[in-house]
Formats: sequence, structure tokens, C-alpha cells
Amino acid sequence: MRDVVILGSGPAGLTAAIYAARGELRPLVLEGEPSSSSDQPGGQLMLTTEVENFPGFTHGVLGPELMVSMRSQAERFGAEILTERASRVDLSTSPFGVWIGDPGAHEPTLTARTLIIATGARSLMLGLDNETRLLGYGVSTCATCDGFFFRGKQIVVVGGGDSALEEALFLTKFGDTVTVVHRRQDLRASKIMQDRAFTNDKIKFRWDSTVVDILGDERVTGVKVRDVKTAEEAELAADGVFVAIGHAPSTDLFAGQLQIDPAGYLVTHEGTKTSVPGVFACGDVQDHVYRQAVTAAGSGCMAAIDAERYLSSLTEN
Ligand code: NAP
Repeated sequence: MRDVVILGSGPAGLTAAIYAARGELRPLVLEGEPSSSSDQPGGQLMLTTEVENFPGFTHGVLGPELMVSMRSQAERFGAEILTERASRVDLSTSPFGVWIGDPGAHEPTLTARTLIIATGARSLMLGLDNETRLLGYGVSTCATCDGFFFRGKQIVVVGGGDSALEEALFLTKFGDTVTVVHRRQDLRASKIMQDRAFTNDKIKFRWDSTVVDILGDERVTGVKVRDVKTAEEAELAADGVFVAIGHAPSTDLFAGQLQIDPAGYLVTHEGTKTSVPGVFACGDVQDHVYRQAVTAAGSGCMAAIDAERYLSSLTEN
């Protein structure tokens, strides 16, 4: 039985671990498994290169380096970190059950008085080999994080929803041209975003087109697009490719047990409380608005404080 079990080891989970450990709650972190693309220990920052907007690093820091530091910092204060993923949770009774390995096992592997969920979200990707290879080398999923690197460059944004247009509009601050490649002729994005994009001189659209390859050896040099109606292929020169085709929060484990919004994110209230007392959520699994490392870290801190107060209320009653 643990006081605090934390699921996930991105900035939210590890910040929660630092705070809970310093509160002498001896948190146990299930950091995920390296072999699993959706449970990457360290979270999405492990897939980036330079992070220039995390406060405290004048000259930036490499995403994986930042996560290794956060992990060591949590361990320094006594957080225990297991390179495992939860395969099942039972939130119907307190203490909560957490399974590692066989989800069909009768007894949970461990029980927890409080559970902090920091399982994050993953950006949906096109599934191209070169997209994976060039991630962080011109391929990005976050304009706020990486737009700055594309000052005066040619940029391609893939997608036709609000995310794609929001990224495209933001990127016009930096890029010379921003070409939105969308697989249909109609955008899914809201009318207001469409109006803004259509009236922005820097934004061009490539309709009815899919990106079938990303070109470049060391860095992105362009994309190959295919017209879905004519099957004709063409190459567009580009220095940056922003994939903005949606996000998938990692909430499968909690379906039917916690309140989840229509887009799949955990619903939180009064800070990081979920619909089950004693279960807290932080980071991208409950945030589809900001999605920044620093906001995830901030909410991880909040979750640890909320868990600590909840535990104190148990002992008082
Ligand atoms: P979304 O609305 O699901 O849009 C995803 C877009 O990507 C769609 O246009 C889709 O094309 C395209 N797409 C999906 N898979 C693709 C693939 N494999 N290849 C090429 N294109 C692909 O996702 P989102 O834009 O991230 O938005 C998610 C939610 O957050 C929405 O409710 C949105 O309104 C909200 N949001 C709001 C704001 C804002 O208000 N400022 C900003 C961001 C997000 P199809 O259209 O053909 O399906």
C-alpha cells in the first residue's frame, strides 16, 4: 500500500513526484515502458530536441536532458521509479488497485490511497518513416515550442482542424510562407479560424492533398504531396513540417471509471480533482488547451499538493 502512486513520467508526473517526495509521501512512479510509443518514459519531451521556453535555461536545454534531470531530482528526494506501465486500475474502492502486468490477475499489484494520473497525450502522426526519423529536425508537433526556429523559412502545416489553423496562424510570425496541406477541400476548423487564415497573406492552402513523404537527410528539405483526386505527386520545398492532425490523451485505463470529456480528456475541477475523490489528474491528459511542458509541470505540483491535503483530511477524520 502506497500513499501516492503516480502514473506517467513527463513534466507533470515528475514534478508531482518531486513535490510528493519532498512532502515525505514516498511516491511510487510508474514511468511507462520504453518499448511502447504511447507510454514513453519522460513523455513527449523525449521526442524533441531543443527546448527554449522552459524557464531557467537561458540557452535552452535538450528535451531528453531536461527529463533526465527531473527524474534524478525526484529520486534525490526519495521518489521510487519503476519502468513499468499500469495495465489496469480499479478506482471503485479506496485504496485504489493498480495492476502491473497481467490485467486479469485477481489481486492488484499494489494499492494506493491517492493516485495521480499524468499519462499525457500523444500527438497523432502521419505514420511515415521519415516523419519519425526527422522529428526534432524540422518535423514538429508544437508551433509554440518550435516556431522560433523557422524564422524566414518555408513551413508546411498538415491538417484541416482548429489545431492546424492555430499553428499556421502562429507560424506566420516566423515563416516566410506557411502552406496548409489538407486532405479535403473543406476545413474542419471553426469559421472564425478559417476567416483568419484565409485573410492572412502568408498562408496558402494545398487542398485535396496528403503528405506521402518527408524529404531531407539531416534536416527537412521538403515534403512529397499526393493529390487525392488525380493521384498526381509533387514536391514542396519546406524547412519545417508541423503535423497538426489531432491529439489522443492516454485515458483508456480510466474509461467508465472517471469523467472524461467528449474529446477524451479527463475532467478536473477545483485544481486537479477528478470525479473520484483521491484521484488527481495533471498535465496533458486533462489539458487540451495549453499543452506546454511548463503548464504540465505546474499542474503536477498542484496535483501533489492536492493529494497531500486529501491524505491529511483522511487522517483528520
Ligand atoms: P480535429 O478537429 O480532429 O482535426 C484534425 C484534422 O486533421 C482534420 O482536418 C483531419 O482531416 C486531419 N487529419 C486527421 N488525420 C489525418 C491524417 N492521417 N492525414 C491527414 N490529415 C488528417 O483535431 P484538432 O484540430 O486538434 O482539434 C481538436 C479539438 O480541439 C477540436 O474540437 C477543436 O475545435 C479544438 N481546438 C480548438 C482550438 C481553438 O479554438 N483555438 C484550437 C485547437 C483545437 P478531416 O477534416 O478530413 O477529418
